[in-house]
Amino acid sequence: MTAANLFDLDLDGLGAFCEQLGEKRFRAAQLFQWIHQRGVTDFAAMSDIAKSLRGKLADVATLRPLAVVSEQFSADGTIKWLFDVGSGNAVETVFIPEEDRATLCVSSQAGCAVGCRFCSTGHQGFSHNLSTGEIVAQLWHAEHVLRRRGVARAAAGERVISNVVMMGMGEPLQNYSALLPALRVMLSDHGYGLSRRRVTVSTAGMVQMIDRLRDDCPVALAVSLHAPNDALRDQLVPLNRKHPLDQLLRACRRYLETAPRDFVTFEYCMLDGVNDSPEQAHELLTLVRDSPATRIACKFNLIPFNPFPESGLHCSPRERVLAFAEVLRNAGIVTTVRRTRGDDIAAACGQLAGEVQDRTRARERLASRRIPIRAVPATKRVAAGAPAAIVEEARR
Ligand code: SAH
Ligand code: SF4
Repeated sequence: MTAANLFDLDLDGLGAFCEQLGEKRFRAAQLFQWIHQRGVTDFAAMSDIAKSLRGKLADVATLRPLAVVSEQFSADGTIKWLFDVGSGNAVETVFIPEEDRATLCVSSQAGCAVGCRFCSTGHQGFSHNLSTGEIVAQLWHAEHVLRRRGVARAAAGERVISNVVMMGMGEPLQNYSALLPALRVMLSDHGYGLSRRRVTVSTAGMVQMIDRLRDDCPVALAVSLHAPNDALRDQLVPLNRKHPLDQLLRACRRYLETAPRDFVTFEYCMLDGVNDSPEQAHELLTLVRDSPATRIACKFNLIPFNPFPESGLHCSPRERVLAFAEVLRNAGIVTTVRRTRGDDIAAACGQLAGEVQDRTRARERLASRRIPIRAVPATKRVAAGAPAAIVEEARR
């Protein structure tokens, strides 16, 4: 029998596991704190847990951290880890320190099956879903390794990681059964104690799963929109053909009925000559705000496209991004332009590639797809790497 990996269990699951061992359920809280708050993986070192239970755990359970393949440091303080997730696959996790918070960008899958045209993970194809333990272990690793290194927040007796965003590799809502217990570990007072507002699930638009998340564990929701109409979104985010915008926006409205924040964050990757014109900004306004059927409390986060060679796409010039933002702001919608972090170590949004043993022939599929790219004079184009120059970001 293989030993159960306790990183796979939320507090309820651990309670049930303790009961199976003939122990009282409440022991789970103590155990959970040792694992997630104190970062201990050796049962023998859990000194206030009865010796008999420690003995049983050593026989039937384990705590399996992720093996680090590499760790890279950006000049701006961002750290990117590449973790081995088996069978020749590796996923990336990014630590992004800021003045008033420290965010961890966590992966949910080895690769991604959605295949968005502008995303490096999508181009890698898909291998497999991560387990709950593999999702949780990314946070466990970052929190406890950085704490041991004396990262400032921890020195003040606080957690190192203040926010988690499920914006690493993969579509989290296509791995829902592993995601849900992982979110519960993050939120648990005996675990990482993060508030629902500080844990964000980002989705390309899995409509039914947005409803399930609302019912099971309504954390902050970010939706990757990227286009103001179905014709363009079909091309950029293939999932749109199955779940078109009208359905998606209605799901966002339903989500807000129980959401911890009173808005949905719409992410919009700015692609030169593709989705970045002032007309498209107005069309976007009509989509999210002016239609009575879908009027949605929202914020926009414009993400300068982070280029990678196979995409064939370019980042919108800075002035076009700012003009687009202005149209939305003038209509009263809070709009931020995301600051690019960790671009010197390819840790920015959409650059996470990891190592994926693709089982979906993504490269061929993406190569055959055509995007209606408006001709933009070459002189107006921004060279690769330029998004780093865009450093404006309003606070949430
Ligand atoms: N699969 C989820 C979460 C992971 S992607 C989703 O799509 O929402 C996290 C964010 O990065 C998404 O908003 C995604 O659209 C954006 N993104 C992907 N590739 C990008 C790129 N090359 N440049 C900028 N943003 C990108
Ligand atoms: Fe997958 Fe998100 Fe990348 Fe699209 S943007 S391919 S959904 S990870």
